[in-house]
Amino acid sequence: MTTKSSKIVMARRFDGMPQVSDFALQEETLAPLEDGDVLCETVWLSVDPYMRSYSRNMKEGDVMMGQTLSKVVESRHPNYVVGDLVLYYSGWRDQYVVKNPDDPRPWPLQKVNYIPEGHPSTLSLGVLGMPGATAYFGLNEICKPVKSGETVVVNAAAGAVGAVVGQLAKSQGCRVVGFAGTDEKVEYLRELGFDEAVNYKTMGSLEDVLCSLCPNGIDIYFDNVGGSFSDTVMSHMNQFGRVSVCGCISQYNNTGQSIGPRLQGLLISKQIRMEGFLVHRWKDQWMECMEALGALVREGKMKYRETTVDGFERAPEALIGMLQGENIGKMIVKCQSGGSGGDGDGDGEQCKQ
Ligand code: NDP
Repeated sequence: MTTKSSKIVMARRFDGMPQVSDFALQEETLAPLEDGDVLCETVWLSVDPYMRSYSRNMKEGDVMMGQTLSKVVESRHPNYVVGDLVLYYSGWRDQYVVKNPDDPRPWPLQKVNYIPEGHPSTLSLGVLGMPGATAYFGLNEICKPVKSGETVVVNAAAGAVGAVVGQLAKSQGCRVVGFAGTDEKVEYLRELGFDEAVNYKTMGSLEDVLCSLCPNGIDIYFDNVGGSFSDTVMSHMNQFGRVSVCGCISQYNNTGQSIGPRLQGLLISKQIRMEGFLVHRWKDQWMECMEALGALVREGKMKYRETTVDGFERAPEALIGMLQGENIGKMIVKCQSGGSGGDGDGDGEQCKQ
Protein backbone atom coordinates (compact mmCIF):
# COMPACT_ATOMS: atom_id res chain seq x y z
CA MET A 1 0.00 0.00 0.00
CA THR A 2 1.28 3.50 -0.80
CA THR A 3 1.14 6.36 1.70
CA LYS A 4 0.68 10.06 0.96
CA SER A 5 2.88 12.40 2.94
CA SER A 6 3.64 16.11 3.06
CA LYS A 7 7.00 17.81 2.85
CA ILE A 8 8.16 21.42 3.04
CA VAL A 9 10.71 22.56 0.49
CA MET A 10 12.82 25.68 0.04
CA ALA A 11 10.91 27.03 -2.96
CA ARG A 12 13.04 30.15 -3.34
CA ARG A 13 16.59 30.85 -2.17
CA PHE A 14 16.64 32.97 0.99
CA ASP A 15 17.78 36.55 0.59
CA GLY A 16 18.61 37.76 4.10
CA MET A 17 16.01 36.71 6.66
CA PRO A 18 13.85 33.89 5.20
CA GLN A 19 10.21 34.74 4.39
CA VAL A 20 7.23 32.37 4.70
CA SER A 21 6.75 32.76 0.93
CA ASP A 22 10.21 31.19 0.35
CA PHE A 23 8.79 27.81 1.41
CA ALA A 24 6.23 25.50 -0.21
CA LEU A 25 4.18 22.61 1.15
CA GLN A 26 4.11 19.67 -1.28
CA GLU A 27 2.70 16.16 -1.34
CA GLU A 28 4.69 13.04 -2.06
CA THR A 29 3.81 9.38 -2.34
CA LEU A 30 5.82 6.93 -0.29
CA ALA A 31 6.59 3.51 -1.75
CA PRO A 32 5.31 0.41 0.07
CA LEU A 33 7.67 -0.91 2.75
CA GLU A 34 10.22 -3.57 1.89
CA ASP A 35 11.92 -5.91 4.35
CA GLY A 36 14.10 -3.89 6.74
CA ASP A 37 12.14 -0.63 6.26
CA VAL A 38 10.41 1.44 8.91
CA LEU A 39 7.56 3.92 8.33
CA CYS A 40 7.53 6.88 10.72
CA GLU A 41 5.08 9.67 11.42
CA THR A 42 6.55 12.96 12.63
CA VAL A 43 5.25 14.05 16.01
CA TRP A 44 7.63 16.95 16.68
CA LEU A 45 9.96 18.76 14.32
CA SER A 46 13.03 20.72 15.38
CA VAL A 47 13.98 24.08 13.92
CA ASP A 48 17.62 25.06 14.43
CA PRO A 49 19.91 27.92 13.38
CA TYR A 50 22.13 25.65 11.25
CA MET A 51 19.23 25.32 8.80
CA ARG A 52 19.75 28.93 7.79
CA SER A 53 23.51 28.63 7.30
CA TYR A 54 23.37 25.22 5.57
CA SER A 55 20.58 26.44 3.27
CA ARG A 56 23.33 28.18 1.27
CA ASN A 57 24.23 24.71 -0.08
CA MET A 58 20.62 23.82 -0.99
CA LYS A 59 18.90 24.10 -4.35
CA GLU A 60 15.42 25.51 -4.84
CA GLY A 61 12.98 22.61 -4.48
CA ASP A 62 15.11 20.71 -1.92
CA VAL A 63 13.31 19.49 1.20
CA MET A 64 14.24 21.53 4.28
CA MET A 65 16.74 19.60 6.36
CA GLY A 66 16.26 18.77 10.00
CA GLN A 67 15.68 16.35 12.80
CA THR A 68 12.29 15.01 13.85
CA LEU A 69 10.91 13.11 16.81
CA SER A 70 8.61 10.53 15.29
CA LYS A 71 6.47 7.51 16.02
CA VAL A 72 6.95 4.20 14.22
CA VAL A 73 3.63 3.42 12.49
CA GLU A 74 4.71 0.36 10.50
CA SER A 75 7.83 -1.74 10.74
CA ARG A 76 9.45 -4.49 8.70
CA HIS A 77 12.62 -4.28 10.79
CA PRO A 78 13.08 -6.62 13.78
CA ASN A 79 14.44 -3.88 16.09
CA TYR A 80 11.51 -1.45 15.74
CA VAL A 81 7.87 -1.95 16.66
CA VAL A 82 4.80 0.20 16.10
CA GLY A 83 4.66 2.95 18.72
CA ASP A 84 8.44 3.30 19.21
CA LEU A 85 9.54 6.92 19.50
CA VAL A 86 12.54 7.67 17.30
CA LEU A 87 14.84 10.53 16.30
CA TYR A 88 15.83 10.88 12.66
CA TYR A 89 17.25 13.48 10.28
CA SER A 90 14.22 13.06 8.02
CA GLY A 91 13.96 16.66 6.88
CA TRP A 92 10.65 18.50 7.09
CA ARG A 93 8.35 15.57 6.29
CA ASP A 94 5.24 14.52 8.17
CA GLN A 95 5.74 10.84 7.21
CA TYR A 96 8.79 9.10 5.83
CA VAL A 97 10.29 5.68 5.18
CA VAL A 98 13.68 4.82 6.67
CA LYS A 99 15.36 2.39 4.30
CA ASN A 100 18.26 1.30 6.46
CA PRO A 101 17.66 2.31 10.08
CA ASP A 102 21.06 1.14 11.33
CA ASP A 103 23.10 3.07 8.76
CA PRO A 104 25.23 5.50 10.76
CA ARG A 105 25.55 7.86 7.75
CA PRO A 106 24.64 10.57 8.45
CA TRP A 107 22.99 9.33 11.61
CA PRO A 108 21.05 6.14 12.40
CA LEU A 109 17.43 5.96 13.48
CA GLN A 110 17.72 6.43 17.24
CA LYS A 111 15.20 5.16 19.78
CA VAL A 112 14.13 7.71 22.37
CA ASN A 113 14.08 5.54 25.48
CA TYR A 114 16.45 7.48 27.70
CA ILE A 115 14.35 10.46 28.87
CA PRO A 116 14.00 10.57 32.67
CA GLU A 117 10.52 9.71 33.89
CA GLY A 118 8.22 12.68 34.31
CA HIS A 119 9.97 14.73 31.61
CA PRO A 120 8.76 15.17 28.03
CA SER A 121 10.19 13.15 25.16
CA THR A 122 10.76 16.45 23.31
CA LEU A 123 13.85 16.90 25.48
CA SER A 124 15.46 14.58 22.90
CA LEU A 125 15.42 17.58 20.53
CA GLY A 126 16.76 19.98 23.18
CA VAL A 127 18.59 19.48 26.47
CA LEU A 128 18.84 15.71 25.89
CA GLY A 129 19.58 15.97 22.20
CA MET A 130 21.82 17.77 19.74
CA PRO A 131 21.68 21.24 21.43
CA GLY A 132 22.41 19.78 24.89
CA ALA A 133 25.33 17.81 23.48
CA THR A 134 26.62 20.99 21.81
CA ALA A 135 26.67 22.77 25.16
CA TYR A 136 28.19 19.79 26.97
CA PHE A 137 31.04 19.04 24.56
CA GLY A 138 31.65 22.67 23.63
CA LEU A 139 32.09 23.59 27.27
CA ASN A 140 33.84 20.49 28.60
CA GLU A 141 36.04 19.59 25.62
CA ILE A 142 36.88 23.03 24.23
CA CYS A 143 36.54 25.52 27.11
CA LYS A 144 37.57 23.07 29.82
CA PRO A 145 36.76 25.01 33.02
CA VAL A 146 39.89 24.44 35.11
CA LYS A 147 39.31 26.16 38.40
CA SER A 148 36.39 27.33 40.45
CA GLY A 149 35.43 30.95 40.00
CA GLU A 150 36.45 31.28 36.35
CA THR A 151 34.36 33.86 34.51
CA VAL A 152 32.28 32.49 31.63
CA VAL A 153 30.47 34.66 29.08
CA VAL A 154 27.76 33.08 26.93
CA ASN A 155 25.42 34.73 24.41
CA ALA A 156 22.08 33.57 22.96
CA ALA A 157 22.04 32.45 26.58
CA ALA A 158 18.29 31.80 26.91
CA GLY A 159 18.28 29.52 23.86
CA ALA A 160 18.57 25.76 23.51
CA VAL A 161 22.38 25.64 23.71
CA GLY A 162 23.10 28.74 25.81
CA ALA A 163 20.81 27.87 28.72
CA VAL A 164 22.54 24.48 29.08
CA VAL A 165 26.01 26.04 28.83
CA GLY A 166 25.23 28.47 31.64
CA GLN A 167 23.81 25.83 33.97
CA LEU A 168 26.66 23.40 33.29
CA ALA A 169 29.22 26.12 33.93
CA LYS A 170 27.48 27.05 37.19
CA SER A 171 27.47 23.39 38.26
CA GLN A 172 31.26 23.43 37.79
CA GLY A 173 31.73 26.45 40.04
CA CYS A 174 32.14 29.11 37.36
CA ARG A 175 30.81 32.66 37.50
CA VAL A 176 28.44 32.99 34.54
CA VAL A 177 27.46 36.14 32.65
CA GLY A 178 24.71 35.62 30.06
CA PHE A 179 23.46 37.87 27.27
CA ALA A 180 20.00 37.57 25.70
CA GLY A 181 17.65 39.72 23.65
CA THR A 182 14.63 40.47 25.90
CA ASP A 183 13.93 41.35 29.54
CA GLU A 184 11.85 38.18 29.87
CA LYS A 185 14.86 36.14 28.78
CA VAL A 186 17.07 38.01 31.25
CA GLU A 187 14.61 37.14 34.02
CA TYR A 188 14.73 33.50 32.92
CA LEU A 189 18.54 33.47 33.08
CA ARG A 190 18.35 34.73 36.67
CA GLU A 191 15.91 31.89 37.48
CA LEU A 192 18.46 29.46 36.03
CA GLY A 193 21.09 30.78 38.44
CA PHE A 194 23.23 32.89 36.10
CA ASP A 195 25.29 35.34 38.19
CA GLU A 196 24.65 38.19 35.76
CA ALA A 197 22.18 38.50 32.91
CA VAL A 198 22.02 41.34 30.41
CA ASN A 199 19.64 42.37 27.65
CA TYR A 200 22.13 43.11 24.86
CA LYS A 201 19.52 45.04 22.88
CA THR A 202 19.02 47.68 25.57
CA MET A 203 22.34 47.60 27.48
CA GLY A 204 24.10 50.47 25.68
CA SER A 205 27.84 49.90 25.39
CA LEU A 206 29.01 46.27 25.60
CA GLU A 207 32.48 47.59 26.40
CA ASP A 208 31.14 49.34 29.52
CA VAL A 209 29.04 46.34 30.55
CA LEU A 210 32.05 44.00 30.35
CA CYS A 211 34.24 46.42 32.32
CA SER A 212 31.58 46.52 35.00
CA LEU A 213 30.51 42.84 35.12
CA CYS A 214 33.83 41.19 34.29
CA PRO A 215 36.34 43.50 35.99
CA ASN A 216 38.91 40.69 36.22
CA GLY A 217 38.51 39.70 32.58
CA ILE A 218 36.92 36.66 30.92
CA ASP A 219 38.37 33.15 31.15
CA ILE A 220 35.84 31.35 28.94
CA TYR A 221 33.79 32.69 26.06
CA PHE A 222 31.13 30.34 24.65
CA ASP A 223 30.22 32.13 21.44
CA ASN A 224 26.87 31.43 19.81
CA VAL A 225 26.56 34.77 18.05
CA GLY A 226 29.81 36.05 16.48
CA GLY A 227 29.99 39.43 14.73
CA SER A 228 30.82 42.70 16.46
CA PHE A 229 29.65 41.36 19.84
CA SER A 230 32.49 38.84 19.73
CA ASP A 231 35.00 41.43 18.55
CA THR A 232 34.37 43.33 21.79
CA VAL A 233 34.34 40.26 24.05
CA MET A 234 37.68 39.07 22.65
CA SER A 235 39.48 42.16 23.87
CA HIS A 236 38.42 41.29 27.45
CA MET A 237 39.81 37.75 27.43
CA ASN A 238 42.33 36.79 30.09
CA GLN A 239 45.68 35.06 29.69
CA PHE A 240 45.09 31.43 28.69
CA GLY A 241 41.44 32.18 27.96
CA ARG A 242 39.43 29.62 25.98
CA VAL A 243 36.94 30.51 23.27
CA SER A 244 34.54 27.95 21.88
CA VAL A 245 33.27 29.12 18.50
CA CYS A 246 29.95 27.32 18.50
CA GLY A 247 27.84 29.50 16.22
CA CYS A 248 27.64 32.92 14.62
CA ILE A 249 23.91 33.45 14.31
CA SER A 250 24.32 37.22 13.91
CA GLN A 251 25.91 36.48 10.53
CA TYR A 252 23.66 33.76 9.10
CA ASN A 253 21.35 36.14 7.25
CA ASN A 254 24.15 38.35 5.94
CA THR A 255 24.16 38.88 2.21
CA GLY A 256 27.70 40.30 1.99
CA GLN A 257 31.08 39.55 3.53
CA SER A 258 31.52 40.86 7.07
CA ILE A 259 34.98 42.09 8.07
CA GLY A 260 36.26 41.96 11.65
CA PRO A 261 39.47 42.83 13.47
CA ARG A 262 42.57 40.65 12.99
CA LEU A 263 42.87 38.46 16.08
CA GLN A 264 46.29 36.84 15.68
CA GLY A 265 48.18 39.38 17.82
CA LEU A 266 45.63 39.08 20.62
CA LEU A 267 45.64 35.27 20.51
CA ILE A 268 49.45 35.28 20.80
CA SER A 269 49.85 37.91 23.50
CA LYS A 270 47.04 36.49 25.66
CA GLN A 271 47.85 32.85 24.76
CA ILE A 272 44.17 32.28 24.00
CA ARG A 273 42.85 28.99 22.63
CA MET A 274 40.02 29.60 20.15
CA GLU A 275 38.44 26.59 18.49
CA GLY A 276 35.45 26.03 16.24
CA PHE A 277 33.61 22.75 16.40
CA LEU A 278 30.75 20.68 15.07
CA VAL A 279 29.02 18.68 17.76
CA HIS A 280 28.96 15.47 15.73
CA ARG A 281 32.71 15.23 16.37
CA TRP A 282 31.72 13.53 19.64
CA LYS A 283 29.25 11.09 18.09
CA ASP A 284 30.92 8.15 19.87
CA GLN A 285 30.45 9.74 23.29
CA TRP A 286 26.83 10.77 22.66
CA MET A 287 25.06 8.46 25.12
CA GLU A 288 27.63 9.19 27.83
CA CYS A 289 26.71 12.86 27.46
CA MET A 290 22.97 12.06 27.52
CA GLU A 291 23.46 10.12 30.76
CA ALA A 292 25.31 13.02 32.38
CA LEU A 293 22.75 15.60 31.28
CA GLY A 294 19.86 13.23 32.08
CA ALA A 295 21.14 12.86 35.64
CA LEU A 296 21.14 16.65 36.06
CA VAL A 297 17.58 16.85 34.67
CA ARG A 298 16.45 14.08 37.03
CA GLU A 299 18.00 15.87 40.01
CA GLY A 300 16.37 19.17 39.08
CA LYS A 301 19.79 20.74 38.43
CA MET A 302 19.19 21.28 34.72
CA LYS A 303 16.07 23.30 34.06
CA TYR A 304 14.60 23.86 30.62
CA ARG A 305 11.89 25.56 28.66
CA GLU A 306 10.44 24.86 25.25
CA THR A 307 8.69 27.19 22.85
CA THR A 308 6.19 25.38 20.63
CA VAL A 309 4.47 26.22 17.39
CA ASP A 310 1.41 24.16 16.50
CA GLY A 311 1.10 22.60 13.03
CA PHE A 312 3.57 20.98 10.63
CA GLU A 313 2.74 23.56 7.95
CA ARG A 314 3.87 26.32 10.34
CA ALA A 315 7.48 25.09 10.48
CA PRO A 316 8.66 28.05 8.32
CA GLU A 317 7.13 30.50 10.82
CA ALA A 318 8.85 28.65 13.65
CA LEU A 319 12.24 28.82 11.91
CA ILE A 320 11.87 32.52 11.16
CA GLY A 321 10.61 33.19 14.70
CA MET A 322 13.62 31.42 16.20
CA LEU A 323 16.03 33.40 13.99
CA GLN A 324 14.31 36.56 15.24
CA GLY A 325 14.64 35.53 18.88
CA GLU A 326 11.02 34.58 19.62
CA ASN A 327 12.00 31.42 21.50
CA ILE A 328 12.95 30.82 25.09
CA GLY A 329 14.71 27.46 25.27
CA LYS A 330 14.26 25.03 22.39
CA MET A 331 11.95 25.99 19.53
CA ILE A 332 9.94 22.98 18.34
CA VAL A 333 6.95 22.39 16.07
CA LYS A 334 4.09 20.12 17.08
CA CYS A 335 3.03 18.09 14.05
CA GLN A 336 0.67 15.47 15.49
CA SER A 337 -1.53 15.32 18.53
CA GLY A 338 -0.81 12.61 21.05
CA GLY A 339 2.97 13.02 21.25
CA SER A 340 4.16 13.06 24.83
CA GLY A 341 6.32 16.13 25.07
CA GLY A 342 6.43 19.86 25.14
CA ASP A 343 4.09 19.68 28.09
CA GLY A 344 6.24 21.66 30.45
CA ASP A 345 6.47 18.86 32.97
CA GLY A 346 8.85 18.83 35.93
CA ASP A 347 11.29 21.66 35.76
CA GLY A 348 10.32 22.64 32.27
CA GLU A 349 7.92 25.33 31.20
CA GLN A 350 6.32 25.92 27.88
CA CYS A 351 5.58 29.05 25.91
CA LYS A 352 3.23 28.73 22.94
CA GLN A 353 3.60 30.96 19.91
P1 NDP B 1 18.67 29.30 20.11
O1 NDP B 1 17.66 28.44 20.77
O2 NDP B 1 19.65 30.04 20.96
O3 NDP B 1 17.88 30.30 19.14
C1 NDP B 1 18.57 31.27 18.45
C2 NDP B 1 18.70 32.56 19.30
O4 NDP B 1 19.75 33.35 18.75
C3 NDP B 1 17.49 33.45 19.22
O5 NDP B 1 16.49 33.08 20.13
C4 NDP B 1 18.07 34.83 19.51
O6 NDP B 1 17.99 35.08 20.91
C5 NDP B 1 19.55 34.68 19.14
N1 NDP B 1 19.88 35.59 18.03
C6 NDP B 1 19.33 35.64 16.81
N2 NDP B 1 19.89 36.62 16.06
C7 NDP B 1 20.82 37.18 16.85
C8 NDP B 1 21.74 38.25 16.67
N3 NDP B 1 21.82 38.94 15.52
N4 NDP B 1 22.54 38.59 17.71
C9 NDP B 1 22.47 37.92 18.87
N5 NDP B 1 21.63 36.89 19.10
C10 NDP B 1 20.81 36.53 18.11
O7 NDP B 1 19.50 28.44 19.08
P2 NDP B 1 20.47 27.22 19.45
O8 NDP B 1 20.68 27.19 20.89
O9 NDP B 1 19.96 26.03 18.76
O10 NDP B 1 21.84 27.65 18.73
C11 NDP B 1 22.67 28.64 19.31
C12 NDP B 1 23.94 28.75 18.45
O11 NDP B 1 24.64 27.52 18.51
C13 NDP B 1 23.66 29.06 17.00
O12 NDP B 1 24.65 29.96 16.54
C14 NDP B 1 23.86 27.72 16.34
O13 NDP B 1 24.22 27.81 14.98
C15 NDP B 1 24.96 27.12 17.18
N6 NDP B 1 25.03 25.65 17.15
C16 NDP B 1 26.23 25.10 16.82
C17 NDP B 1 26.39 23.75 16.80
C18 NDP B 1 27.73 23.17 16.49
O14 NDP B 1 27.85 21.96 16.32
N7 NDP B 1 28.76 24.00 16.39
C19 NDP B 1 25.25 22.84 17.08
C20 NDP B 1 24.04 23.54 17.49
C21 NDP B 1 23.94 24.90 17.50
P3 NDP B 1 18.10 36.58 21.51
O15 NDP B 1 16.70 36.99 21.83
O16 NDP B 1 18.95 36.40 22.71
O17 NDP B 1 18.70 37.45 20.45
